[in-house]
Amino acid sequence: MWMILATALLLVASGGYAHGGVSSRSTSFPATSDDTIEQDIDAAVSGVDAYWKNHWQEFFTGAYSSPTVYGGYDGASAVEPQCGGNPPLVNNAFYCRDGTDFLAWDTHLMENGYAAGDVYVYFIIAHEWGHAVQERLDVSLRDVALELQADCIAGAELNGAAQDGTISFEEGDAEELGQAIKSTADGFPWNKATDHGDVDQRISYFNTGRQGGITACLPQSFFSP
Ligand SMILES: [Zn+2]
Repeated sequence: MWMILATALLLVASGGYAHGGVSSRSTSFPATSDDTIEQDIDAAVSGVDAYWKNHWQEFFTGAYSSPTVYGGYDGASAVEPQCGGNPPLVNNAFYCRDGTDFLAWDTHLMENGYAAGDVYVYFIIAHEWGHAVQERLDVSLRDVALELQADCIAGAELNGAAQDGTISFEEGDAEELGQAIKSTADGFPWNKATDHGDVDQRISYFNTGRQGGITACLPQSFFSP
């Protein structure tokens, strides 16, 4: 059992992490659940949060605190929630540190992604939650590639929640997720290798966390003598 130093929220920097963007094309993977998008979003939030409440102390020191979930906004017109004095991002989702510690997403991003596969909303929420986790970690535990590490954490959270039974995935969801990421990849900043990693990298990091758990997402130099 790894016990790893975590710190409280020490960084109060403006701005947050963002990624996303979505295309309206691709509906080749039908949603295979009867759940509504609201139900799936709620399930993702509660499942990922429960995972950390149940397992934080298996990996890290200190107590886990849940980030605030602002939830959806209309990116076409919303002026709230602001992050670091900036309006919310259009067709995007973000985690805002800046002393506010919240997650939010453009409802259009979620709806469009959801149309391509219901697992999409789980990935978005888990990824942003990964940024909230990063903020709770000692800086030595943050990967220089923060976006890819967030993808890795997302994989660990979702698989962990699935093992706990708080989130249920269906046969083929992993493939659907990979296809969903690819289907929304064209022309969006978060797929540039210079900032967020390309699609193959993102899927690779996600699978690293899904298969290896949270410790696989931490800088491996940390574990070397
Ligand atoms: Zn991100």
